[in-house]
Amino acid sequence: MREEKYDVVVVGAGPAGSVAAKTAAERGAEVLLIERNQEIGVPVKCAEGVSKEIEKFVEVVPRCVSAEVKGANIYGPDGTKVVLSAETMDETGYVLERKIFDKSLAIAAARAGAEVRVKTEAYGVVKENGFTKGVLARCGCSDYSDCSGGGREGEVRISADVVVAADGVESRVGRWAGIKTRLRPSEVSVSAEFLMCGLERELNSDFSEFFVSNEIAPKGYAWVFPKGSGCANVGLGISGDVSGEKHRAFDYLRAFARMKFPKGGVVAEIYGVVPLSGSLPETTADGLVLVGDAARQVNPLTGGGILYAIQAGEIAGEVVAKAVQEKDFSKTRLAEYEKRWRSEFGKRLETGLKAKEFFFGLSDKDLNKLAHSLEGVKIEELSVGALLLELVKRNPKMLLGLRKILL
Ligand SMILES: Cc1cc2nc3c(=O)[nH]c(=O)nc-3n(C[C@H](O)[C@H](O)[C@H](O)COP(=O)(O)OP(=O)(O)OC[C@H]3O[C@@H](n4cnc5c(N)ncnc54)[C@H](O)[C@@H]3O)c2cc1C
Repeated sequence: MREEKYDVVVVGAGPAGSVAAKTAAERGAEVLLIERNQEIGVPVKCAEGVSKEIEKFVEVVPRCVSAEVKGANIYGPDGTKVVLSAETMDETGYVLERKIFDKSLAIAAARAGAEVRVKTEAYGVVKENGFTKGVLARCGCSDYSDCSGGGREGEVRISADVVVAADGVESRVGRWAGIKTRLRPSEVSVSAEFLMCGLERELNSDFSEFFVSNEIAPKGYAWVFPKGSGCANVGLGISGDVSGEKHRAFDYLRAFARMKFPKGGVVAEIYGVVPLSGSLPETTADGLVLVGDAARQVNPLTGGGILYAIQAGEIAGEVVAKAVQEKDFSKTRLAEYEKRWRSEFGKRLETGLKAKEFFFGLSDKDLNKLAHSLEGVKIEELSVGALLLELVKRNPKMLLGLRKILL
């Protein structure tokens, strides 16, 4: 088997992996970023909505954006509308074009000095004295890179002092290295989405829209995110434990899309799973860090993970570069990553988990009651925290449990 050696190998070129690779390479580490797919950013498995907070961490150039939105409209089961929008700002969120956005992050990693390789899939980890010391990978040859040299064709042992597991919701790297990453059906959202076009008449192109109702999406919600030119990501997620024969996410989506956009055309179908378990109890081990969906760094209430993947990727890149400089790859050294990401956004994930547990158990009657309490109220921030605070303020008895976490 062919052998290679790097300081850091990053598995998965989603937002978490590319940002981690860029950050570590900028700080002098020799980094290899591997991606199993032949094209970074494809297939898209995302609704692509993100708040403008993302600009604190990465540059978002216009070609990475399909549309800008002024806020969000949330509809209760009986159609009551709640508005989240800051009048002082023109636009508060983006609907990204992830095919381009993810590539632009990988390009930034390459510019910073990381080696980026597609069609290269990790299938195991190298372990030495309890430390993760690299990955075993299969690579598809291209005219550019001939990976057949020496030993079995296409297989390579990539030794590295640190492995960054950025391999998304399926994350096998963490499991191979001995971390428990299993998700129960109740801990995932099973999602289906159509990219629909020809919606010029019915679409609100300035707002992201959310539909909360057990009839539309049990233990979940539906969304319509405008993409410009009369197109939109129209999708929904339901909890894995309510999905079954004839009531899969796809069945609910077909009904929702027919009802909402009877004349729209479907130009792409997307299926995916979102981890809603809250973060893993531990996201580091000797020679290993987990970032993004692999670490379950997703808001369990909204399913949003792009921003956290980027934040965690940046912290992980900084910490592994320091570990390389200090030649200390122990869990104790890498624990700085765990400490910093938890202090930056750990509380948000915890609150999201508690809120999810509460809201997913509510009947449509209760959801209507909550929506009525916010009817006509303008929440001047596009954030889950602002929405929850307003709900707690107006429904103190019903939301006593949430109040304790938030205030
Ligand atoms: C339907 C749907 C809608 C969503 N909508 C939103 C939204 O609107 N806003 C939001 O913020 N979040 C959304 N999310 C969540 C968001 O997509 C993720 O949180 C985000 O992509 C996480 O980034 P990541 O880098 O951790 O993982 P990913 O983006 O999943 O990247 C992981 C990468 O690792 C690669 N990989 C996996 N295994 C291997 C291997 N063995 N070897 C090499 N490469 C490997 C994969 O091919 C992939 O490219 C949505 C998710 C779904 C499924």
